[in-house]
Amino acid sequence: MYKAFLIKYAEIGIKGKNRYIFENALKDQIKNALKNLGNFLVSKEQGRVYIECPDEFDYEESVEALKTVFGIAWICPVMIVDTIEWEELKTAVGDYVEKRYPDRNFTFKMEAKRADKNYPLTTPEMCMKMGGYLLERFPELKVDVHNPQVRIMVEVRTRSYVYSEVIPGPGGMPVGTSGKAMLLLSGGIDSPVAGYMIAKRGVAIDAVYFHAPPYTSERAKQKVVDLAKLISRYTGPIKLHVVNFTDIQLYIYEKCPHEELTIIMRRYMMRIAETIAEETGCLGLITGESIGQVASQTLQSLMSTNEVCNMPVYRPLIAFDKQDIVTISEKINTYETSILPFEDCCTIFVAKHPVTKPSAKVIRHSEKLLEENIEALTKTALETKEIIMIK
Ligand code: ATP
Ligand code: MG
Repeated sequence: MYKAFLIKYAEIGIKGKNRYIFENALKDQIKNALKNLGNFLVSKEQGRVYIECPDEFDYEESVEALKTVFGIAWICPVMIVDTIEWEELKTAVGDYVEKRYPDRNFTFKMEAKRADKNYPLTTPEMCMKMGGYLLERFPELKVDVHNPQVRIMVEVRTRSYVYSEVIPGPGGMPVGTSGKAMLLLSGGIDSPVAGYMIAKRGVAIDAVYFHAPPYTSERAKQKVVDLAKLISRYTGPIKLHVVNFTDIQLYIYEKCPHEELTIIMRRYMMRIAETIAEETGCLGLITGESIGQVASQTLQSLMSTNEVCNMPVYRPLIAFDKQDIVTISEKINTYETSILPFEDCCTIFVAKHPVTKPSAKVIRHSEKLLEENIEALTKTALETKEIIMIK
């Protein structure tokens, strides 16, 4: 029954003179999300975005797609009435109620807005008269202005808009309005959620995955590609850099104390990720770390991995409990993929008793043992990385 949506946004509304940048980005992201679902006309007008669907389209699929567009606060399926003439509008609103609510045993409240203050009726008059008309036409309706079951909204602009359903959007800011950052994406539960959360603030995402063939399988890599695909529904296209980390890991394994392996490995991951981030115009790194989750995420360990980066490292999950992270991963549909049992490169070389309080001095000293070859190995890892475009 709907041929249009009215999109309401929240934070973009407070952007002052830059607002048009955010609105245009939102329009682009909406078009992108709907591009395979039919012919949609997207326009903006006075703090709103309208989507019109002149041809056949799948309503459910379109709503699902809109729920992935950051920046949308509310999705309102709307009936457009091609007039602002009161009598015609009244009848149209009555027809809307008749069609949308075959069972009219509910309480309602009328709400109205007019763009032109010279409209013959004031807003309270519009509500009163429209409410009265509906009560007369549908005696089973009841008014409740405090706790209505249904709010019927009428907005009179150059045309009129009638709606009564508001579907929550994902919130956040349109992707691409806050620069780009590099996500360290492993096959776990946390890092896809971390990428999703930063993208929600308008940040475009590239990703880097470190694998260690033959210790990690092709399936493990495919799992990361699949996870990138799943989050790209929200983030838009992702350039995934796959770095072969095997020789670096083996070298660390050979030279350094085993209980420090994870920490030293993580420091090299951060260094390499930062190099790629610099080369690709990223303004920060993103990880799925959370305080205390594992030995490499104690405050001491985090300090040690942070020490090697000059760029800011964004850790949106830092204070989240695992269950809260799982809840988000279920919501964004990455959980089932994340829990598939393929080894990621960290688990192969982990020591039985990894250090939980690495001292900066000790770690730096251990890294000295790598001096001979690590630069060459890092260079090779960077030169041989594979790029996969995720769309
Ligand atoms: P996740 O569920 O994201 O794998 P985790 O709890 O397993 O996290 P760690 O293995 O300690 O945690 O990794 C912490 C963070 O480091 C990850 O969230 C991710 O951002 C990054 N990371 C770990 N392993 C890799 C990898 N193989 N490739 C890219 N990034 C990685
Ligand atoms: Mg992991």
